[in-house]
Amino acid sequence: MRIRVVGAGTMGRGIAQWAVMAGHTVELADARPEAVAEAVSFVRAMLERAVEKGRTSRAEADRATAALLALDSPYATPGDGAAPELVIEAVLEDLEVKAELFTGLERALPASTVFATNTSSLSVTRIGARLADPGRLAGLHFFNPVPLMRLVEVVPGAATRESLVELLVALVANSGHRPVTVADTPGFLVNHAGRGLVTEAFALLEESVAGHPAIDRIARDVLGLRMGPFELMDLTGLDVTASVMDTVWDGFRHADRLRPSYLPANRVAAGLYGRKSRRGFYAYGDGEAGPSLPEPRIEGGDAERAVRVTGSELAGLATSGATPDDALVLVPTWGTSVAAAVADEGLPAERTLGVDPLSLGTPRRVLAVTPATREDAVRDAVAVLARDGHPVTVVRDTAGSVAQRLLASVVNVATGIAERGIAAPDDIDTAVTLGLGYPRGPLAWADTVGSARILALLRALAQETGDPRYRPTPWLTHRAALGLPLSTPMASLPE
Ligand code: NAD
Repeated sequence: MRIRVVGAGTMGRGIAQWAVMAGHTVELADARPEAVAEAVSFVRAMLERAVEKGRTSRAEADRATAALLALDSPYATPGDGAAPELVIEAVLEDLEVKAELFTGLERALPASTVFATNTSSLSVTRIGARLADPGRLAGLHFFNPVPLMRLVEVVPGAATRESLVELLVALVANSGHRPVTVADTPGFLVNHAGRGLVTEAFALLEESVAGHPAIDRIARDVLGLRMGPFELMDLTGLDVTASVMDTVWDGFRHADRLRPSYLPANRVAAGLYGRKSRRGFYAYGDGEAGPSLPEPRIEGGDAERAVRVTGSELAGLATSGATPDDALVLVPTWGTSVAAAVADEGLPAERTLGVDPLSLGTPRRVLAVTPATREDAVRDAVAVLARDGHPVTVVRDTAGSVAQRLLASVVNVATGIAERGIAAPDDIDTAVTLGLGYPRGPLAWADTVGSARILALLRALAQETGDPRYRPTPWLTHRAALGLPLSTPMASLPE
């Protein structure tokens, strides 16, 4: 296919590289001619590197290099009659700039050329609405770096022709990436799904449940995420993350589940963006540890102290035989708090602590303490949990503990995406694994833990906090009640 890529910045050059390597002819254009020249050298250098590393042959790289053409204007009319079949736009993220570009392209190119925008936050429908023929434009949302990030969101606007969606899906799939079709909604699929983790991470910070290094350690070790939420925001840039959080929340008319925290605004104003400004949640640069901060060690506890447990999940931690009066009491916190267990079951507050059952069987144990827990009980409980060599993170008591709350939020947001029909359930899981790098898609993940357990968790959170952000979605509630996997599509209705 002959593809014109307009905008030769970070994304445009990545898209050009991906397309020439997949065998397409690419015309590259930009408002700044020097940007085209830089992008062509960049793609050539990447192709050379691929040859050096043995990832591609010399002949293949030469063919791809020859297939990359520099244009001196986005509107250049083809002299030889070889008009591009598709234009992919990757210019400044501004509705006016994009709309003006497409109206100019509509005048310059034949009616058979179709258009795609790589916008990450604007409405595809609004960009297309300025065209005489809005049916010829769709969203084609790539991720950075394009050659490595295999996911591409294909986004039909309200007026987009079905044949264009089919063409783009086939183009992406035949060129080695994975297309997912997503409704034209704020954040599309990946940026919407990603809100589950970061908004809940901020909620935990707002409630002083734990510091950000502890939350990140729990996210990595208990949930198996490659990066904790704060480490991830430092990489993405808090300015970018905060703006996506606001766009998605505003776009969905302040849906409680997506409510952002008050915390990022001042951090952004102070330039604490993350890696790019060398300071974010962590400090970066020479001699700084970044997210690999040394972990605080809690020493001096009695690993042999007697333990009584109140739930079968913790049976392995109980001392055998009769337990003395001063035994520690460990309660499993599944959507519940230690404080509630103390009150409901008449437990001794000064030596009752919570253990997150989700952390058992993972590389880290998570222990919850209340304002009534005595210091010796905390030390001894840490020593007991660390007996098998696992690190222990101590957090403040909250319904559901850290990992459960993060997971519940990820699942609830994902099921909200499914029930709004924004994407097919299987595509949600695929997009989250490829686009966000989670170990599992949120729907499959919830099924592994048990959708009924996730539902119980959210209900307990909603009840204890009274906060509607924890209201479970009907998608989750109904599938859990029916014993169906969360990936079960909507019921089809008779025509
Ligand atoms: P960038 O600043 O690196 O590149 C933008 C390029 O567009 C520049 O070379 C600029 O000269 C050119 N340009 C600006 N106005 C133009 C015009 N009217 N006509 C022709 N060229 C023009 O930006 P980027 O990060 O590559 O982002 C481009 C688009 O891709 C944006 O819409 C952005 O939201 C989207 N996007 C970015 C990312 C990302 O991670 N960077 C990811 C997905 C989507």
